Amino acid sequence: EADDEIAKRSYTPPTKAKSALRIVLLASNATLYSNRRIIEAGEARGHEMIFVNVRECYMNVSHSKPEIHLRGGNVLSNIDAVIPRLRPAITFYGCAVTRQFHSMGVYCLNDATAITQSRDKLLSLQLLSAKGISMPVTGFANSPQDTKDLIKMVGGAPLIVKLLEGTQGVGVVLAETTKAAESVINAFKSLKADILVQEYIKEAKGVDLRCFVIDGKVVGTMLRRAADPDEFRANVHLGGQVSLVKLTPDEKKTAIAAAKAMGLQVAGVDILQSSTGPKVLEVNSSPGLEGIEAATGKDIAALMIEAIEKKVQAKSQ
Ligand code: ADP
Repeated sequence: EADDEIAKRSYTPPTKAKSALRIVLLASNATLYSNRRIIEAGEARGHEMIFVNVRECYMNVSHSKPEIHLRGGNVLSNIDAVIPRLRPAITFYGCAVTRQFHSMGVYCLNDATAITQSRDKLLSLQLLSAKGISMPVTGFANSPQDTKDLIKMVGGAPLIVKLLEGTQGVGVVLAETTKAAESVINAFKSLKADILVQEYIKEAKGVDLRCFVIDGKVVGTMLRRAADPDEFRANVHLGGQVSLVKLTPDEKKTAIAAAKAMGLQVAGVDILQSSTGPKVLEVNSSPGLEGIEAATGKDIAALMIEAIEKKVQAKSQ
């Protein structure tokens, strides 16, 4: 049923109302909550929403007339804006398609460069630190010969070891002792996994803040709390609970600065509350809508569409 819906949307001819836009949602799964909400919110505001599966795009890269075709031969034309919502596994191809949209003059709600940067945890932390944004002390090394000193560098145990490729908290380990830390780091290394080592922010106590930023404003925040008292990871996929929270001015400033440092118009900024102030953990370029809309009761999807309207209308004036 969902596929029929997509097919209908993809091939409707451009019957443009005066201020109606043709907006592409570039993603993989039209039935995900966030994707359904974005389509719904765009249609509610009178726009034509077109779901495009990243894998079904192919491109003509040429200086005179760059194009994107869809499986079956249809050409995507007269598109005003694209919202890329790329699964980590499809980042490389999805960013190539997003860049193609950009070269066709289409406004991208998160451009390809920003998405690529945000998918590299180490690069992200380096970009944040370059802007003076506070984060847990983080170490990175190539060789196991340097493990001991790396551990010292981040202040010793307890510490956090993170797989660079991990998501949803799965590749995040808390090592309670220096011995445990050495074993975990060297085990990951022997598997050729890229990891970083990080100061453990104990006082965060399994709580983190997810700040949803659109165009330099925090439009919603939720507090995530780990499933049980022994769990230090607040990820919702690991059973974490969400609730409403009001940010301190410092937290708000940090969230906005982090999104800006990454060059993201739409960002989910994860912050830990440490005894020395907010520390940024991660900046997500496709933040989920389900938790944040439930926690805040806000139509965040509509705010994303509104951000597009502002940009595209400003361009056409
Ligand atoms: P992922 O990208 O897999 O979600 P994160 O880096 O966001 O990984 O870590 C998952 C969770 O673990 C965070 O939401 C936070 O609750 C906890 N956590 C991560 N890093 C630290 C740290 N340095 N100190 C304390 N808690 C942390």
